[in-house]
Amino acid sequence: MSKTISILGSTGSIGRQTLDVAEQMGLRVAALTAHASVERMEEQVRQFKPRIAVLTDEAAAKDLAVRLADTDTKVLGGFDALVEAATVPEADTVVTAVVGMVGLKPTLAAIKEKKRIALANKETLVCAGELVMDAADAAGAEIVPVDSEHSAIFQCVQGCADRREIKRLILTCSGGPFYGMTYDEVGKMTKADALRHPNWKMGPKITVDCATLMNKGLEVIEAMRLYRLTLEQVSVVIHRQSIVHSLVEYRDGAVLAQLGTPDMRLPIRYAMTYPERGVNPAEPLDLLTCPPLTFAAPDREAFPCLRLAEEAATEGGTACAILNGANEEAVRLFLADKIGFHDIPRLVARARATVPVVQSPALEDILEADRAARESVLR
Ligand code: NDP
Ligand code: MG
Repeated sequence: MSKTISILGSTGSIGRQTLDVAEQMGLRVAALTAHASVERMEEQVRQFKPRIAVLTDEAAAKDLAVRLADTDTKVLGGFDALVEAATVPEADTVVTAVVGMVGLKPTLAAIKEKKRIALANKETLVCAGELVMDAADAAGAEIVPVDSEHSAIFQCVQGCADRREIKRLILTCSGGPFYGMTYDEVGKMTKADALRHPNWKMGPKITVDCATLMNKGLEVIEAMRLYRLTLEQVSVVIHRQSIVHSLVEYRDGAVLAQLGTPDMRLPIRYAMTYPERGVNPAEPLDLLTCPPLTFAAPDREAFPCLRLAEEAATEGGTACAILNGANEEAVRLFLADKIGFHDIPRLVARARATVPVVQSPALEDILEADRAARESVLR
């Protein structure tokens, strides 16, 4: 059970919902970080009084320091300060809610300090899952997933002492805003269309990833790394209602599922209270009024990003870091109106075809793969 937390990415969608949960649970907040959201960070610091507040944008950090001169909070700027926020001695739990691979180094630093990692930042596990899981095993640090599918699986494997009993994981996928369209129809969709997710309100990068189905591809890799499984042991099923959050099939044929309303505060709260369960003041799931639960196969022709992610997962090594780096850069260009929707899989495929894969990578190999993939997209 967490008592004092640090949040990396506190001004974002997961970060703000984590602060809601922290307030409800009466958790102490030791450190908060964001990139450049000065005003929102000032509000959060005044309310939660952390010892450290970080803005990775140096100019924004200077502005914040002036605004917070009357408080006891120490304001830091730059990327190295993320590591300081991730390792503050008084925090027992670090919520990794930054978007992108930038979360990797602070996550590794927090693991070394044996913090519980409440992990939302999936890009970290996609790029360096083996390194992160090995480091957590070596340090004895707990990694409790916040991503709703992985939290569902985590809950369904409680009580499973022998992981060989798991036959496969079944990740559910809402299908995103373009579900049911052909490849050509999807290609005509705009940024505004892509940002309209049917069930979840999230940050812009993951919302675009949901529209391309890259999010589900990243989640397949995340699940493989968290539970050390092969691609054949992780399948994807479309479930439009986002009520069954994922399932675990055991070798005796039993299938366990976790259900709930689509509200990220549920998995966030569980990551804080684990191994106990807290009280949730929100409306519970009502099976009699919720829509009928349906399931369908994903369309890898209309949504090639899912296939690209599965191919990278099979190849292993730095292939997933290349996939992720190229995707982060391509989504950034798409959100800046520089490229079209289908350019995202096209640029990811080009990076995968041109950047060489290193097997059994060290951290430097992963960082280099990420750099080369981004460069390939910007070429
Ligand atoms: P948001 O875009 O809403 O928030 C991102 C946070 O990270 C903000 O605090 C932002 O600060 C900070 N940030 C952005 N870029 C950088 C950077 N380069 N360096 C340091 N900090 C940075 O994202 P979400 O909350 O939606 O997602 C966060 C993570 O959680 C992602 O990995 C996502 O895949 C995962 N996730 C999210 C879910 C959701 O429901 N939102 C569900 C499951 C997983 P600033 O405000 O200053 O830009
Ligand atoms: Mg998810």
